[in-house]
This record gives sequence, structure tokens and C-alpha cells, in this order.
Amino acid sequence: MQADADPNLVVYFDGKLMPLHEARVGILTHALHYGTGVFEGIRAHWDEAQQQLFLMRPHEHYERWKQNCGILRIEVPASPEELCAITVELMRRNVFRGNVYVRPLAYKSAERIGVSTDDQDSFAIVALPFGDYLHADKGLHAGVSSWRRIEDNAIPARAKICGAYVNSALASDDARRSGFDEAILLNESGQVAEGATCNIFMVRKGKLITPPVHENVLEGITRDAVMELARRELGIEVVERPIDRSELYVCDELFFTGTAVGIAPIVRVDHRPVKDGTIGAVTRGIQQMYFDATRGHLQAYRNWLTPVYQSRMKHDQDLVSLVGMNAG
Ligand code: PMP
Repeated sequence: MQADADPNLVVYFDGKLMPLHEARVGILTHALHYGTGVFEGIRAHWDEAQQQLFLMRPHEHYERWKQNCGILRIEVPASPEELCAITVELMRRNVFRGNVYVRPLAYKSAERIGVSTDDQDSFAIVALPFGDYLHADKGLHAGVSSWRRIEDNAIPARAKICGAYVNSALASDDARRSGFDEAILLNESGQVAEGATCNIFMVRKGKLITPPVHENVLEGITRDAVMELARRELGIEVVERPIDRSELYVCDELFFTGTAVGIAPIVRVDHRPVKDGTIGAVTRGIQQMYFDATRGHLQAYRNWLTPVYQSRMKHDQDLVSLVGMNAG
């Protein structure tokens, strides 16, 4: 559980910076009634030794966000570069010195009744201090949910659409009330899709296996990072293929990946231990590599990171003013 956000946190809303307590939407806002928003989640990790905060692949997150907004025909009138600049500025204004979660949200903002959308769109970016999302130090107990993952032809799972997270909320709430730490959702054909807010990987017979992107999963940026680290650094074969539910019961290792959860080992599934019920070597190796890569300890992956506290990025200020941001 995370603490409530500080009401004086500086956020980006309505084209300017302002305190969180002033950033308010009306009760008739379209997205509030119909779920017509698209959000993102970006992490920044603090490295004490370097006194530095590193944003993890912000450009890719903003590119994904804008693409996903296109699915709902929401216009975000700023480029990924401009959005990165706003995010860096937000971090500096809040003088964060610890791990941070960034939540961009674009939404249909007309205040009226009626489900069909029009062209009134808004966006906001909130950055807040954020610790562990799941307490996974000893490994998680995951449960296969009776809720099925939403289908692409109903609500695209890849799109991070606000309304789609009712599916995640139902599964996650159900899992927790049944004594599990997190839910695993199957798709309509009964194969493993992903966790409620994270992708899933399994180690079986020396290979790292994850469902392909057309199985109604989110195209995770952590998923992509893990596949690269596994192949390049650990020399493991990575396979994207459907996973049967019962394979979860006979696999060697299992873990979730995501911006909020990081790399979260699963040591029990549906009351059965994963192998001997301890965190496996591949999972530990990937956890370590991911930790090092996101804190700027691995030169080869420095291009994933945007450091927050360095001399201003060239043209940074110009980009910020382009999207009308001011001191608010
Ligand atoms: N699946 C779902 C349903 C999610 O909400 C998330 C979090 N964005 C993920 C997977 C992981 O994606 P990423 O690694 O890009 O955070």
C-alpha cells in the first residue's frame, strides 16, 4: 500500500505546473464516466552513490502512450521529447531523492452525458515518490483468476485504456481476498496472458518463455528489457509462445515484470510450489541485471536512462515552453 500523495506535489495539468490539490476535473468529465482515458507508468530509480535519479526508457513510454492514445483518438499535442522534458522538469521541481513513479494520463475531457467521443482531450502528468508495488522479497503466491483477460476486439489490452483496468481490478481484488498476492489472467482460449498489472515469464527446460504480444497482453517495456538482458547478458534462449495453465505447475521458475512491480518472483501458484518454492537462479540473475541497468551501473544500458539531475538538456527549456508550460 502506498501513502496518499502530498497535496503540494508539483504536477503538470492544463498546460502548466501547479500543486496537486489544484489539479481537479469536473464530475461530468467523459473519462470519469466511460473510462475513455489512456495512461502510462514510468519509473525513475534513485542511485545514492551517484546522487542521481534515472528515468527508465521515458521516450519509449511516451511513444507507446501516444500510439495508444491514437487507438482511442485522443490527441496529445506534445512530442515524446517534449513530454520527457516536462517529466524531467517535474522531477526537479519536486526535488525527488528516492524512487519515483510517473503517471501520464490523457483523457476525453468534455463535460457532458453521452458515450460517443468528441475532440475535447486533456492530459496530465503526475510524478510521486513510490516504493515497492508488490512485496516480493520472499517471492509471491499467485493465483489463476476466474476472470478472463479482455479480448483485443472488446477493449485492446495493449492500449493501457483506463476502462480496461476494471478487468485488472476485478482479478487483483479477487486474488487478494482469496489470500493470493496477485492474479494471473488467462485469455479467452484458456492460455496464460499476464498478471493484473504485469507481464509473466516462465523458465522451463533452460528456456525463458513468455506469451506473445497477440495473446491479449500489454506490450511491456520491462518485458522487452528482460528479454534483452536474458539473451545478451545471461545467454538464455528467449521464446515467445502460448503457455498452458498447467505449465505454471510444472515449470522451474516464474516471475512477473512491469514498471511498478519490477522483477517480482513467484514461488507458489494456486497453492503449489514453483519447483522447490524458492526464488530460482535465472530470476535472481535477471533481478540483479535489471537493478544494475536501471541504476546506471551497466554502461551497455545507459542509453535506456535519462538522468534527471545534470546540466539542462540542450533545448530543454525551449521544448518546455513549446507546450506552454510555465511556473504556475
Ligand atoms: N501488463 C499490464 C496489464 C500492465 O498494466 C503493465 C504495466 N504497465 C504491464 C503488463 C507491464 O508493462 P511495463 O513493463 O511497460 O510497465
